Amino acid sequence: MESKKGIGFTLQDYEDAFDEKMMPRGGRFDIDTLEIEDQVLFHRFKSNAQNFIDQVKTRPEGVIEGMPHVHFDFINNPNFNATAFIHKGKEFIGFNYGLILMVYEIFNRILSSPKIFPDLGNVELEHEHEKLPVLTPNFEVVRDQYEEKKYSPYVYPVDETRSYYANDLADLALNFLLLHEIAHLRYGHLSYVNHKMGMDFIMEFDGEIERKINPLTNKLLEWNADNWANETEAGIVYECFQRNMFQSDILNKSTGSLDQAIHAWLFTVSVLHRLSAGVRRLGNLGPPEHYPSPLERHLTSIIMSEVGIRMSKPNYGDEVSLNDLFTLNNLAVNSSEKGLELIFEHDQFLDDLIEAIMDANKQESDFFELFKKDFREKIRPELVSFARANDLDKSEGR
Ligand SMILES: [Zn+2]
Repeated sequence: MESKKGIGFTLQDYEDAFDEKMMPRGGRFDIDTLEIEDQVLFHRFKSNAQNFIDQVKTRPEGVIEGMPHVHFDFINNPNFNATAFIHKGKEFIGFNYGLILMVYEIFNRILSSPKIFPDLGNVELEHEHEKLPVLTPNFEVVRDQYEEKKYSPYVYPVDETRSYYANDLADLALNFLLLHEIAHLRYGHLSYVNHKMGMDFIMEFDGEIERKINPLTNKLLEWNADNWANETEAGIVYECFQRNMFQSDILNKSTGSLDQAIHAWLFTVSVLHRLSAGVRRLGNLGPPEHYPSPLERHLTSIIMSEVGIRMSKPNYGDEVSLNDLFTLNNLAVNSSEKGLELIFEHDQFLDDLIEAIMDANKQESDFFELFKKDFREKIRPELVSFARANDLDKSEGR
């Protein structure tokens, strides 16, 4: 471990560099300031995230070139946001503490409802909780509203199976975001925007930063990061299912079939894309042409999941086709619609998004060809000299 980090640059040095760079956004987050139960969650997440980054950055095997150690840490900021950056020649991924709390909160609340996944565990132990006020990107605002409205601040499923499942889904969602940030480093996006615009970090959901980048460039870099994240995570879900290897072993036991594991994955990204879209709207970010739309992100998830599964097991053949994935998607979107409706007060914006995603069909994925063409012609020729993995050519959708 020490050798990978480079002689002379210690863990303390990484933490100090992280703190220095993130100072305008709150600095490095001190886990010990949290309530004790949250400390356990954060320590567990941090060590899992670091292991996950160490293992996954070289995936698929043999394609990586000079991807150095990437240090993971939390930022002392309550907003739903994540970043990747290079500082002092070292590489970093940062998650705001608010992002972690928000994602666990949402999946725990969804699984607490007896109306969601009623066949999972003993649903009779669960009861409906208060609905959350309208979605906000700031977890402190959520907390204040608990107090103001006298809500129960911590809502966990009572049934153990449902509780593990909520954790697995939250981890899947957060791992997807980790993969997205790794992809920004892996394909040299950071060095590229630094070279072109003098910007040495990428912060998701940041209007000021986004406006500095050409809209099409920003959109295509985000799409490129999503592609690898979806492909990689769907492949991992598939492999874990094959090997009975989910963290809690519950995802296997409770889902039972490969279809259901994929359903769980599509359910997770479906919730995540809608939350991100909500956060983007509330964050008053760059115009829509700066970022793939929630519908485009969702369709990318479906299409790249098929690729990821195929890459994990080249002869998977008739087990899962793209058509199957679109069918499973309808189920997943239905469940996530119901889940979000049960935990949030009515929100017309989320309703409209749901409608768009529900009506998604393969014809609409025509955008994929346009993105590929633009990526190939406008970004890839310049990006290729910054990429550290030699699968950039394929990362645009195989
Ligand atoms: Zn991004």
